[in-house]
Amino acid sequence: MDPEESFKAVRKAMKAHHEWFKRCLPLIASENIVSPAVREAIISDFGHRYAEGWPGERVYAGCKFIDEVELICIDLAKDLFRAEFADVRATSGVVANLIAYTALTKPGDTMMAMPIPSGGHISHGPEYTKSGSFLGGTAGAVHGLNVEYFVFDRKELNLDIDESAKRIREVKPKLLLFGASVFLFPHPVKELGEVGREVGAKVAYDAAHVAGLIAGGYFQDPLREGADTVQMSTHKTLPGPQHGMVLAKKELGERIKQATFPGLTSNHHLHNVAGLAIALAEFKKFGKEYAGQIIKNSKALGQALYERGFNVLGEAKGFTESHTLLVDITSFKNRVGLGRDIEERLEKAGIILNRNLLPWDISEGRNYLNPGGIRLGTSEVTRLGMKESEMQVVADFIKRVVIDKEDPAKISLEVAEFRKDFQKVHYCFESELEAYEYVELH
Ligand SMILES: *Cc1c(COP(=O)(O)O)cnc(C)c1O
Repeated sequence: MDPEESFKAVRKAMKAHHEWFKRCLPLIASENIVSPAVREAIISDFGHRYAEGWPGERVYAGCKFIDEVELICIDLAKDLFRAEFADVRATSGVVANLIAYTALTKPGDTMMAMPIPSGGHISHGPEYTKSGSFLGGTAGAVHGLNVEYFVFDRKELNLDIDESAKRIREVKPKLLLFGASVFLFPHPVKELGEVGREVGAKVAYDAAHVAGLIAGGYFQDPLREGADTVQMSTHKTLPGPQHGMVLAKKELGERIKQATFPGLTSNHHLHNVAGLAIALAEFKKFGKEYAGQIIKNSKALGQALYERGFNVLGEAKGFTESHTLLVDITSFKNRVGLGRDIEERLEKAGIILNRNLLPWDISEGRNYLNPGGIRLGTSEVTRLGMKESEMQVVADFIKRVVIDKEDPAKISLEVAEFRKDFQKVHYCFESELEAYEYVELH
C-alpha cells in the first residue's frame, strides 16, 4: 500500500470505530472511557518525554513540569485511597502486579492466588498449567513464582475462608494475592490475611477491576483490611487512561520504587501520568456518586436479566456488589450456542460484551475458546449517563437477541436509536466534546 493510502486506511478505520461506538452498548467489564480533560492530557507533549527516576531525582533533563504533575498525581492517589505510599509509574495493571511480585518475593517462592477459571487474571498464573501445557501466566513465566490456589466456593462465588485457610497453613506461601477479573463480591482479605501473617506471608491485592469502586468508598478497603500493597489498572472502574499504579504501606515504599525503576519501567508514559492525575481529580469530585451508580446499575441489570430468563449467577446475594455480572448461558434449551457464539451475535446487534469461563466450565469439558458464560460490566454505560431504568432497556435488547433470537441487524438499529440520548461523558469536568467524538488534528 502507498504510504498515504496506509495513513488514510488507518484513519478511516479509527473513525469507523468511533462511529460504531457512538451506536453501541459498551458492556465490557474491563473497559471504560476517559473524560475530555483526560483525552487532552493523553495527546500532550508529555507523551514524547522521558523522566526516569523519582520526581526531583530524575536522571533526565526537561522534567520540571512533569515533576510537578507527577507529584500532584501521587498526592491525589494517596488521598483518594488513603494510602501511605503511591507510585504512579507502572505502565499497566500487569506491570503493577510484576512490581509487587518483584518487591515482595523472589523467584522460586510460592504465591497463592485465585484460580483462573474462577476469575483469576492471567498475570496471577503459573508458568505451566497442571496438565503441562504452556500458559505463560505472568507470575510463573516472568517472575518464576510457584502458584498455588485459594479454594473457591462455587455457590458463594467467593473464596472459601475455612478451606483456603487450611491451604495457606499447608502451603505456607510467601505472598497472598487477592483480587480477580471476575470480581463480584469482596474478598476476605482481613480473615485470610491474618492466616497469611501466621505463616509469614505478605498480602497483595489486585484492584484492577474495582479500583474506582474502592476509591468511591464501596466494595471493600484492602489497605484497612491489612493489604501490604494494592496494584491496579487505572482504566476499568477507575476511569483514567490505560496505565497502572501501586499503593503500599510506607515501609514498603522504597522496595516498590526500586522494583518500578530501574526494575520494570524506563519510560513510564508521562502523558498517561498527567491523564491519571486529571482522572483522579475528577474522581475526587464525582467518584462517590459515579461508583454508587455503577453498583446500582449492575444490580438492576442483574435483576432485569434474571427476570427475563437469564441464569445470572449470585441471585441469592443480589447478583453482585461490583460493576460486574456473570451469566451462565448453558442452561437455555434452544440456545444459539455458547459464550463465543453469543458474544458474536450480540456484537452484530451493537452490544459489546465478552465470553467468560464459568468456575465449573473446565470440569464440564468447556474451555476459554467457547465457554459457558458471558461477563457484563456497567462502568461505561453508567459513565454515559444511564441509570436503573435504562438497565431494563439494555436487558430487553439482550433478551431479544439471545432468547427470542430476533435478527441482530434489526436490533442494532434500535440500539443506535436508544444510544442517541447518551453521547456525553458524565461524572467529569464540563466539556463540549462528545464521548466518542473523533478529534482531527492533521
Ligand atoms: C485487567 C486486569 C489486569 C491487567 O491490567 P492491564 O492494565 O491490562 O495490564 C490485572 N489484573 C486483573 C485482575 C485484571 O482484571
